[in-house]
Amino acid sequence: MTTLYLEYNSLCLIMYPMESLEEARAIYEETAKSGEFSADALAGKLNRQSDDASKEVAVHLNKAAKDMRDALNKYSPTMKKLEGDTAGEAKLDSSSMWIDPEKIISDDSEDVIDKELAEDIGRHENEHQKQSTSADADKIQVKSKTWDEREIREAAANSVMHSTERLNTEYKAICALTMDEKDRDLVRRGEFKELEKRKNGNQFSNVA
Ligand SMILES: [Zn+2]
Repeated sequence: MTTLYLEYNSLCLIMYPMESLEEARAIYEETAKSGEFSADALAGKLNRQSDDASKEVAVHLNKAAKDMRDALNKYSPTMKKLEGDTAGEAKLDSSSMWIDPEKIISDDSEDVIDKELAEDIGRHENEHQKQSTSADADKIQVKSKTWDEREIREAAANSVMHSTERLNTEYKAICALTMDEKDRDLVRRGEFKELEKRKNGNQFSNVA
């Protein structure tokens, strides 16, 4: 930890040492930016960075490494910068997944990364990995609302997340198309016609 005093004419500008959490976040961002890594490899880099850090910073870095492994190792994503608001990406019917390390930085005052958010992004993308690339319809109508192919797949992926609080407005709206395990299975197999029937299942229940 360093303290730097700079003097400009008679004005003395004092830069205080960064709080240890901020310093750990800065090291995390710097490390994440230095390349594309598996979650496990990025965690390993954080562990190694902790050797040169102060005790307080090292605690944060090692916690971040553990959180990253606990949340993401099972999904083996590639950690890399993604465009705009995109936090995660996956290819349908594949084992490819990318997660932006900067979009899982925690906004609390305790942790470098938000473990629950990271895990939720992993869950969402993992659901896409199980979905087929083709389907037997390009949209479904549930009651009076029409959902296109992309919205159907996103609804299924949203439905496996523990919290949808951090989703953007569009994705939150897609959550109106709720999905249970059976629905998700139909989406995975591209059986959208069957899904449409199932989602409208109660439509005629009041008709004698
Ligand atoms: Zn998605």
